[in-house]
Amino acid sequence: MTALADRSVPAPTDASSPDTSADLGRRARWDAGVRLSVLVTVWASLLLVTYWWVTGGGVQDLTGWASGLTSTGRLTGLLASDLLLFQVLLMARVPVVEKAFGQERLARTHRLVGFTSFTAMLAHIGLITWGYAAGDLAATPGELWNLTVDYPGMLLAAAGTACLVMVVVTSIKAARRRLRYESWHLMHLYAYAGVGLALPHQLWTGQDFLASTARTAFWWGLWIACALSVLTWRVVLPLWRSARYRLRVSGVVEEGDGVVSVHMSSGRSARMTAEAGQFFTFRFLSGAGWTRGHPYSLSAAPDGRSLRITVKEVGDGSSALRRLRPGTRVLVEGPYGRLSPRARTRRKVALIGAGVGVTPLRALAEALPYAPGEVGLIHRFTGQPLFEAELRRLSVERGLQVMWLPGRRRAEGSWLGDGMGDVDDVTAVRHWLPDVAERDVYVCGPEPWARDVARSLTAAGLPAENLHVESFGW
Ligand SMILES: Cc1cc2nc3c(=O)[nH]c(=O)nc-3n(C[C@H](O)[C@H](O)[C@H](O)COP(=O)(O)OP(=O)(O)OC[C@H]3O[C@@H](n4cnc5c(N)ncnc54)[C@H](O)[C@@H]3O)c2cc1C
Repeated sequence: MTALADRSVPAPTDASSPDTSADLGRRARWDAGVRLSVLVTVWASLLLVTYWWVTGGGVQDLTGWASGLTSTGRLTGLLASDLLLFQVLLMARVPVVEKAFGQERLARTHRLVGFTSFTAMLAHIGLITWGYAAGDLAATPGELWNLTVDYPGMLLAAAGTACLVMVVVTSIKAARRRLRYESWHLMHLYAYAGVGLALPHQLWTGQDFLASTARTAFWWGLWIACALSVLTWRVVLPLWRSARYRLRVSGVVEEGDGVVSVHMSSGRSARMTAEAGQFFTFRFLSGAGWTRGHPYSLSAAPDGRSLRITVKEVGDGSSALRRLRPGTRVLVEGPYGRLSPRARTRRKVALIGAGVGVTPLRALAEALPYAPGEVGLIHRFTGQPLFEAELRRLSVERGLQVMWLPGRRRAEGSWLGDGMGDVDDVTAVRHWLPDVAERDVYVCGPEPWARDVARSLTAAGLPAENLHVESFGW
């Protein structure tokens, strides 16, 4: 088991050893600033609505039982609305936010904000109804009915709540596992309906919303920002880019083991803005099922005019790719993701990928500027490794160090193959990457496997900000 660093690196045929230091980390620092600003903005908005609740008499109302319930119910309603609108903004693929957070972090933040705003919403419904029932629990169900049928906008709000309940329940891991992805995704879109249907009752019965010009401006501003962001970056921009690039399939190549590569080229002179390691959501206009978008990472460094993806057949969408004909039109959303040069802050890099998870790392191994020996790639695989010839060529031409890790997964909780005997993951990491703490490490593969890799890298001393993980959702 030879340390990656000790592997002899043949003199690369490409003599130029690129200088990587000048702006290394500049974008990563900018992104860290953006993430902090988003965090501060969300907290500031939560404090602002709480301040308005306090100045609106919220605290005084806590002196009575029923008024206290109602007042706390108003506060949780305000916090739930605020978080729900930021939830929509976070998932609107606003470029500066998407680039700074990346897929994994956005998904984690989305779950946290989603469950928190949902819990606050349930507290809002329960407390405000209990308060309106004069604090009498037994009368609360009846009061809920009265509120729903008598108060303006409440029937819509009830429908909105039903949508959000469905979205949250189907997103609980146990439920999601039982659903086909497209069914889950379709139901998830009801979240927008849920948020939209809540608005009328806030305007018509929510005294906190329109009590002052500042509050009106705040809430309307947030609503309009959400609606415009979703429209601009989830609808208009993808359509505009797809029309501008006019991407078409130029070829499908068998890679073995139920894996195919799809080559696409742009029919226009416009250069496509994408970086190695990023992914797009693709829709191939090849007949039934085209409306379903699938995220696939670029498996070669993009040159502005053509793209390559490499896909493992795991279901009907991915299996349909091998039947694609040259000339098939392609619609794209993206590029997305932060598993790209953007996240790099160090000269030395390690790329660790399992199975088809090596696709974005293969692109990074081609695109990253590095001197021989500065970048190592560890490829875990069963059956045949992917891109063997290409990685060997990069090893010869660029001094990429490659380690092949064949074999089935050894045991739950370990990311190593069954050929590794009983060496523990952390010892293996420390041996292969003795300088792991001085590197940026990019990890991609199935979710549970990627979690095990991340755990062992952290235990081996890799700082969290230098760990860049993307999983393929399964
Ligand atoms: C950021 C990202 C990059 C990816 N890059 C690649 C890649 O380069 N090569 C590759 O082979 N696979 C990649 N995948 C996984 C790929 O998107 C799914 O395998 C594919 O969408 C499966 O669709 P299906 O209809 O064949 O299978 P299904 O039977 O519908 O789904 C199989 C599994 O894929 C997941 N999945 C299905 N559709 C989606 C979707 N639209 N978004 C996210 N997960 C989905 C489901 O949760 C399910 O677990 C990537 C996934 C993500 C999230």
